[in-house]
Amino acid sequence: MVVKDNLQKISATLPTGIQLVAVTKTKSPEQIMEAYNAGHRVFGESKAQELLPKYEVLPKDIRWHMVGHLQTNKVKYIAPFIAMIHSVDSLKLLKVINKEGIKNDRDIPCLLQIHIAEESTKFGLDADECVHLLESEDLRNMQHVDIRGLMGMATYTEDTEKVRREFRQLKTFFETIRNRFFPGKESFKELSMGMSDDYFLGIEEGSTMVRIGSAIFGDR
Ligand SMILES: *Cc1c(COP(=O)(O)O)cnc(C)c1O
Repeated sequence: MVVKDNLQKISATLPTGIQLVAVTKTKSPEQIMEAYNAGHRVFGESKAQELLPKYEVLPKDIRWHMVGHLQTNKVKYIAPFIAMIHSVDSLKLLKVINKEGIKNDRDIPCLLQIHIAEESTKFGLDADECVHLLESEDLRNMQHVDIRGLMGMATYTEDTEKVRREFRQLKTFFETIRNRFFPGKESFKELSMGMSDDYFLGIEEGSTMVRIGSAIFGDR
């Protein structure tokens, strides 16, 4: 019952209104069911090819979030059911998501992933690229993508002040983007920031969604 205990401990520290996405990559359906049986319904995976077999065998009232880098050729597999894609990092990807949204007759909730970390290996748009994407004429014709906010991953470091600064920057950028491109759109409100090691900082800096794996399911 370790998973259940971990979930309860973490949930108890989250302010109300903060969405907990339990990240299940590398974890088995049996392990995921421990969280499910404890009442949790929102799960995240970072690879489409790992998500699909889990989607197939697990209960259909799970709301699956894609949190990792998504290749355009994988969108079609998850488009029918995905609750949110956190990792949108190009106009090209957004176009494919829109196309699959049309095919499936649904609007697909998306977050734009912003590059805030020092490491060049982390995916995401930089601030200029994000603005450029949102200014694009093409975007106005995409009726089946529903952009709900931003996502970012901080540098992997012990330096909590650095992590805090990166999260704070993202929050500021989020406000700028909301005011400029989404005034009056109430559902543009999500800021996905914070993982097992830094979610408490994310929350202090204005996160609305945390993506937590190892602190719930153990190390990978
Ligand atoms: C793996 C992963 C997480 C969860 O990481 P933990 O450190 O295990 O909490 C969160 N977000 C993304 C994008 C991930 O790939």
